[in-house]
Amino acid sequence: MYIKTFGCQMNERDSEIIEQLLAQEGYVPTAEPEGADVILINTCSIREKAEQKVFSLLGALRAEKANNPSLLLGVTGCVAQQEGEQIRDRMPHVDLIVGTQQIYRLPEMLERLRQRVTSKEIATNMETSFVIPPFQKLLADAPLSPAPLGFKRFVTIMQGCDNFCSYCVVPGTRGREISRPVADILEEVEILVNQGVREITLLGQNVNSYGTTNQVAAVQVTFPHLLRRVASIKGLRRLRFTTSHPKDLSEDLMRCFAEIEILCPHFHLPVQSGSNAVLQRMNRKYTVESYLEKVTALRAHRPDIALATDIIVGFPGETEADFQATMDLLNRVRFHSSFSFKYSDRPHTRSAGFDDKVAEEEKSRRLSVFQNRQDHICFERNSEYIGKEVDVMVESVNNGELKGRTPSNHIVHCAGADAHLLPGEIVPVQIDQAGKHSLKGIICAKH
Ligand code: SAM
Ligand code: SF4
Repeated sequence: MYIKTFGCQMNERDSEIIEQLLAQEGYVPTAEPEGADVILINTCSIREKAEQKVFSLLGALRAEKANNPSLLLGVTGCVAQQEGEQIRDRMPHVDLIVGTQQIYRLPEMLERLRQRVTSKEIATNMETSFVIPPFQKLLADAPLSPAPLGFKRFVTIMQGCDNFCSYCVVPGTRGREISRPVADILEEVEILVNQGVREITLLGQNVNSYGTTNQVAAVQVTFPHLLRRVASIKGLRRLRFTTSHPKDLSEDLMRCFAEIEILCPHFHLPVQSGSNAVLQRMNRKYTVESYLEKVTALRAHRPDIALATDIIVGFPGETEADFQATMDLLNRVRFHSSFSFKYSDRPHTRSAGFDDKVAEEEKSRRLSVFQNRQDHICFERNSEYIGKEVDVMVESVNNGELKGRTPSNHIVHCAGADAHLLPGEIVPVQIDQAGKHSLKGIICAKH
């Protein structure tokens, strides 16, 4: 049976879980929708007009379904969660609607549809569950062929979010924040490391508050404790985490960057805006001043830390002065990288109802001013690595061209690499060139 999954970057981890759950049932991924037995659209509504895109893709797939009546067509993720009823009413050719918390039920739902026990399957209740336990058990019981998992993986440590930033759909689509038991996380990391994984990124919307809100019974530790426990797993070479909310960044977590050897000096700390007035309307619960203090403290603990951030331009009511404050913040912190977005109204968020929306052309102008300046800073920041020796974890080697990453998450290219180098191996590289988005270097002779 062939399955085609449409996904997006924001919910890559969910798409991965879906594919792995279904691989255990014998489904084989296929590149094209034509000829597939199952087509799943795994949706994310954090930005842009996700709903419209889903409806138009579903419309386009109507003909595919008419040609092949046994094809099963499903929608999973945020849009299924938020717009499940609309999908059911407007797109009767959709067989399966599965919300964010129910993806682990996909195999049984597909089986019922295939056996014609039911003609439609809808599961959108928000009861939180962690999907990984049955999956990790499968991995432990039936180890896969060499390195099927690659050398780096995400591990979910919490779900949902309690912060209710006024522009954000996550609390509505993913539910309240809940932390996963420590023992389950450690077990999953151990299984992955035993399968050859060398780098783990711990994943949650606000990992800084791990263990402090809506604890499940077995959670008794804070995020810094969890980091120390995960870091002690033998064979793990690099540890990362994402994402962090600035208001919950503790001194203890900052110390981890100085004390945990395998914790990579790369920190994604979304600031969103450099204007206190905008931050307040965003309900971010910190000020520009407190953010800057944390940046200074972090750099005191780990001077080589590479800071990344998220920025929204054109939030309702953002004046030119507010935008200039964001530019000032960029110039003060000089982030190593950033993800920047034009504000967009998202369904059922508070800011969708705010007045003073910024015109589309003005949002585009501000975004390009911000991104041009960030590109320039990226280049200057990257140039600081010229002449330095860095450890590069190999991602691929093609025709002697090595691509890998530094602990600070910079992409590095090197010519003349040994074809026997494997993904996940670490090689010392002397950096000799910098671009806006990557570095170039020479593999050190001693290797
Ligand atoms: N939990 C993280 C945090 O607190 O920053 C990240 C959340 S969100 C999944 C990823 C990014 O999408 C946000 O940091 C924000 O910059 C952007 N984003 C979320 N909602 C948005 C909206 N309505 N318009 C534009 N960008 C948005
Ligand atoms: Fe959304 Fe992040 Fe705010 Fe949570 S903390 S509401 S995920 S932006």
